[in-house]
Amino acid sequence: MKNKMKPKLPEGCIQCLEGRKLVLFMTGICRQGCFYCPLPESRMGKDVVFANERRLSNVNAINEAIEEAELSDSTGMGITGGDPLVVLDRTIDYIKAFKKRFGGEFHCHIYLTTKEVTKDKLERLGKAGLDEVRLHPQFLKEDLSEELKKMDFALELKKKFKWKVGIEIPIIPDCAERTIIFLDKIKDKVDFMNFNELEMSVINAPALMKKGMTWKNDSTAVKRSEKDALKVVTWCQDNVSIPINFCTASQKNQFQYKNRLRRRLKNIMKDYDIETTDGGLYRAALYLPEMKPGFHYGHKLENLDKVRRDKMLKKLSMLRARLMDDFEIPENLIELDTQKIRILTSTDIAKALKKPMKLLGLDAALIEELPTYDKQIMQLEWI
Ligand code: SF4
Repeated sequence: MKNKMKPKLPEGCIQCLEGRKLVLFMTGICRQGCFYCPLPESRMGKDVVFANERRLSNVNAINEAIEEAELSDSTGMGITGGDPLVVLDRTIDYIKAFKKRFGGEFHCHIYLTTKEVTKDKLERLGKAGLDEVRLHPQFLKEDLSEELKKMDFALELKKKFKWKVGIEIPIIPDCAERTIIFLDKIKDKVDFMNFNELEMSVINAPALMKKGMTWKNDSTAVKRSEKDALKVVTWCQDNVSIPINFCTASQKNQFQYKNRLRRRLKNIMKDYDIETTDGGLYRAALYLPEMKPGFHYGHKLENLDKVRRDKMLKKLSMLRARLMDDFEIPENLIELDTQKIRILTSTDIAKALKKPMKLLGLDAALIEELPTYDKQIMQLEWI
């Protein structure tokens, strides 16, 4: 039996749990073809880059990703996809740019498929400054020789680049035995093993349901993934001495995501905002009737032509000036939101001035929204 003392988690996990990692989605393209792939429709197979929730204006807009890292107080990033190796030159450009901007201690870990791994590609990532490699092999295959060979490439370069190498795989219900066969072959080679609770999306649901899987309660997690993880983790406790981490869907939401939002909130919170207990922003928004949130709101905003957009912003700017003059509102308590074409202010001001605002043709709402780039509205109440 191995030593049961709990070893330290890998640096990438520590920073991620504390919300200090920027999630850099490098591309939605991947050739590994896992039947359980949980990527959402908006990303799967699409060559798009996201820095946290922000979709970059183009795939090479590194400055926008850096801006998101600054706003989120990130101390590292997790590069994910799709498969970042499919766009290797781009991935290298981002790592170099982030290391240059934030310094060598900015911790970069990457999720890679074994499908695309070669020694040469890994060498290039190492030279760019990569700190941690997380491999996602096709661990359920009968013949694992090719997967193990690819993993060896990353392991052979450990000394040269002083990086950590681990695996990160989902726990597929009814596959615990096969998973353990794979783990047994790598247990003395890798630095850590990470397991994720399998999640269901619109895209992978048909394939998973065909195999008899279903949702767990109200969550996106797949039933029995957590139960089977217990079998895998129990085996690990008796057979391996490296860090083992099982990440549930709710843990991701409760800790990683919420902690990341809290860090961003501190940098973007305005004088008119109130922080909610959930880490959201409670504020008031004043809309022109034609730009009120509703069905296809996101699509409407995205497809607005420049002339119409400028015209509405000009109108809102005049209405803001009028409200400031008529009611002596300080300028830091009422602002124009050019991204969502609306005026933002405090809930107290909106409640007190709801009649004059209506007379000016503005519809006021009390909203709770996330402090993310896309400012997702969680609750809205028209007043
Ligand atoms: S490696 Fe990841 S992104 Fe690629 S198909 Fe598998 S789950 Fe999807």
